[in-house]
Amino acid sequence: MNDERQVLGMKTAIIAGAGHGGLVAGRRLAQLGWRVILAEKGERETLGYDWEDTVPKFTLAEAGLPTPADEDLSFMEQMCYFSANKKKPLVAPGGKSDTIIYADRRTLLQKLLENAEESGVEMLFGCEILWATYDLNRVTGVTCRWREETLTLKADLVIDAAGMDSPVRRSLPARFGIEREISRLDTIHVWRGYYENRTGERAVPPYNVYFFHNGKPGMDWAITNEDNVDILVGAFGHLLQCEIDAAVEDFRAIYPYMGETLLRGGYADHIPLRRTLPVFVFNGYAAVGNSACMTEPLSGSGLMLSVRAGNLLADVLKESDGDTTAWGLWPYNRDYIRTCAERYYDDLLIKKFLAGLKAEDIDFFIDKNILTAKELCGSGEPYTVRGILEKANLLRRPDLLPGVARLGAGLALLPRVKAALPEEYDREKLNRWREVADRL
Ligand SMILES: Cc1cc2nc3c(=O)[nH]c(=O)nc-3n(C[C@H](O)[C@H](O)[C@H](O)COP(=O)(O)OP(=O)(O)OC[C@H]3O[C@@H](n4cnc5c(N)ncnc54)[C@H](O)[C@@H]3O)c2cc1C
Repeated sequence: MNDERQVLGMKTAIIAGAGHGGLVAGRRLAQLGWRVILAEKGERETLGYDWEDTVPKFTLAEAGLPTPADEDLSFMEQMCYFSANKKKPLVAPGGKSDTIIYADRRTLLQKLLENAEESGVEMLFGCEILWATYDLNRVTGVTCRWREETLTLKADLVIDAAGMDSPVRRSLPARFGIEREISRLDTIHVWRGYYENRTGERAVPPYNVYFFHNGKPGMDWAITNEDNVDILVGAFGHLLQCEIDAAVEDFRAIYPYMGETLLRGGYADHIPLRRTLPVFVFNGYAAVGNSACMTEPLSGSGLMLSVRAGNLLADVLKESDGDTTAWGLWPYNRDYIRTCAERYYDDLLIKKFLAGLKAEDIDFFIDKNILTAKELCGSGEPYTVRGILEKANLLRRPDLLPGVARLGAGLALLPRVKAALPEEYDREKLNRWREVADRL
């Protein structure tokens, strides 16, 4: 950034990576008169996944985008879950959704970019961020590689929207108090591809989710659409090519109209499936979206939360008149945890519980109605976990008790976790909060 900003007294922000929440926050700050620069390593036209994902309809408005009429939207199909033995399909309650829509990921991102640009956000594409720059007690900017040059961009605030493996977060010194590495064990590695649908036939219901598909710990799905069969293959931690091939082959046997031609997608990525980072702000730094692990722990969905976080960050900066110290940014961190992350603590415990089970245990839990479609679609209501606990205790399967006990201990901890979240950015209280939150 040049010196013009100092002359004008203008606040400056860098959006590191074109993450959704970062673009939302950056657009709003530009509207408030900030100078905002996006540094994104990809080229503009190739950004966004080559497939459609589900997102609540209200997220479009929250992202500052127009909401098309219902007849122009495509709503999420009813889901059906299968355990490893595929014996007992569990159909999610409620039929086809009237609130969750499919969004084309490329179109969505392009619209967010257009909106941000129209509001004055300057954009550098093909600009790979290498690391954060900082002084003793503040993040001061980022160093990037752009057009074969290495340049350093300085700003009052770095909005870290560079995803799960953000080079900004990973290069921060430990003393800034932000977790740097996301363990692969806390992720799901997912491959996605659309194959041709040779006949137009559809399964009933069309959206089928398979746990421990082919014995692989993780989750796959097959969604039968009229012109394609949408396949997702996911494994906790790492996914192997032979596992993708085996899953696709099995789906072709289950859905014989699924052809060989890959129409869209055909690549893999990691999604964080863990608690949100307990602390994701510092002087001159705020993480938004996947860079702070803001995903729903059962489904891996992160678009709605990322957009919410972007708005929350902009609200807090507007309210504080642009206070980019850790104290000024803490209300963003605190309120995100309180209004978004806490809603998923039960789901987080369920996810850990499920991830620790063997395929035959999942079969058992589903066959015995301990896990029902309600828990699996992540209702987020506290009683569902308690219900599982009670039912599992009654059955007295001693080999399952350690997992059940861990789930119970997690549940018992939740009130303490919630109470430990500090009101203010106070180092001592933050340490206590991190310590308690780390036990989730
Ligand atoms: C197969 C799959 C299915 C999914 N389905 C859903 C779904 O149905 N619903 C849902 O809500 N979510 C879904 N998600 C999750 C969702 O994609 C993320 O949670 C969401 O994209 C939020 O991430 P983000 O916007 O913070 O960052 P990201 O989308 O990860 O974007 C990060 C950006 O930073 C850029 N970047 C990275 N490193 C650098 C660097 N060094 N320099 C410059 N730029 C950099 C990247 O190029 C990218 O543009 C799915 C994910 C996958 C992989």
